[in-house]
Amino acid sequence: MRFESRSVRALAAGLEDGSLSAVGLTRDALERIAASDLNAFIDVQPEASLAQARAADARRASGQRGALLGVPVAHKDIFVTRDWRSTAGSKMLADYRSPFDATVVERLAQAGAVCVGKTNCDEFAMGSSNENSYFGAARNPWDPAAIPGGSSGGSAVAVAAGLAPLATGTDTGGSVRQPAAMCGITGIKPTYGRVSRWGMIAYASSLDQGGAMARSAEDCALLLSAMAGFDPRDSTSLERPDEDFARGLDQPLAGLRVGLPREFFADGLADDVRAAIDASLRQLEQLGARLVDVSLPRTRLSIPAYYVIAPAEASSNLSRFDGVRYGYRTGDYTDLRSMYERTRAEGFGAEVKRRILVGAYVLSHGYYDAYYLQAQKLRRLIAQDFAAAFAGVDVIAGPVSPTVAWNIGERTDDPVRNYLADIYTLPASLAGLPGMSVPVGFGAGGRPVGLQLIGNYFAEALLLRVGHQFQQHTDWHLRQPGG
Ligand code: GLN
Repeated sequence: MRFESRSVRALAAGLEDGSLSAVGLTRDALERIAASDLNAFIDVQPEASLAQARAADARRASGQRGALLGVPVAHKDIFVTRDWRSTAGSKMLADYRSPFDATVVERLAQAGAVCVGKTNCDEFAMGSSNENSYFGAARNPWDPAAIPGGSSGGSAVAVAAGLAPLATGTDTGGSVRQPAAMCGITGIKPTYGRVSRWGMIAYASSLDQGGAMARSAEDCALLLSAMAGFDPRDSTSLERPDEDFARGLDQPLAGLRVGLPREFFADGLADDVRAAIDASLRQLEQLGARLVDVSLPRTRLSIPAYYVIAPAEASSNLSRFDGVRYGYRTGDYTDLRSMYERTRAEGFGAEVKRRILVGAYVLSHGYYDAYYLQAQKLRRLIAQDFAAAFAGVDVIAGPVSPTVAWNIGERTDDPVRNYLADIYTLPASLAGLPGMSVPVGFGAGGRPVGLQLIGNYFAEALLLRVGHQFQQHTDWHLRQPGG
């Protein structure tokens, strides 16, 4: 009962005609997860998964239908779950169990998707390589010496290695798009506010957004349709009707105007990545798209803007981890103050501490105007740059990452180098725009390359259509590591 390389529609057809069962698919996923040495999962609870699978089979037997009913899904361990630990990749929450399910988890359970476990990620989603996880780095299935990207690295690995057909991720500054690119799968981060943040452990609330990861754009569309929707429990959730993102995938691309921001193709883009991106753009032209030169002049400024705003919000969000309300508490303290101090000193990793320090600094009296306020102004200007570009194009295309995946350990003592590598994903995050990564080939060392597509607000269906049409004429998304 292998789900490997089968689309979600094919799985649903098999579940419908009885040739597959949710229990069989779930057993298969659990076996593959147990046999994998890629460190993609933080918590697996076979009994909880099998109970959900049996329930899905019973729902189908009683006549219920649904694209995801009985299909396995892996959740990034940023979404809280009752039946699995919810760690955010941190020692602080290493044994934490949530009393409730995140809205995304709840919505997918209602759709009948079967959770097969919680995936590895950078601590509190801070990072681009998965190496900041308290549970150790996940490994890239295309080359186990390579990072899988981050922070949703475990989710990307789970899909790329065929451990689960679908996975959820979260993207604050690129964490769905970048690991999808580095693992050769498809990933989409929707418009900010589309997917509920209720039960998503907070990193930077004005940027955090849940997203979908799968082999193909069509599978992402089916997953995102179930994830997204208004949630009164999240005050930033957008009050829009639910949308079927898989509708209209078959519409051809003739006449589509694709903007290429000059700044995304400037110095710093590795030759191997550039070659794969160029080839994919020629393919889009063959499908009827027209390439248009555009400019996003503040692209470089997105790095300082993001690395002020995100740590500022993180320093506030992470103040709740005080040894009293959630998770870890030091065993060694003399009074309340030393309990707080030691709990946080022992519970957080180096990158999280670095960001709390930066965040507290840029918000402090005397520095707020110089850093935080300036960053907010830049953020507005970056959004305006996009608005100007979208006046003349339908989508924007470029690389996701300046290079293919680097080696585990290669950059761990150089955090700024990691920050700079976020240059192409941060602008859309700061503007709240939807962004997607589509596999378009391989670079040095046979490591995957992703094409980024950025849409205007609420243009998820269009992005998915572009990805789907591209995938109807290419097979990069069907390639498998070791295949
Ligand atoms: N690499 C970026 C950071 O470290 C983005 C991470 C994310 O999107 N969660 O903040």
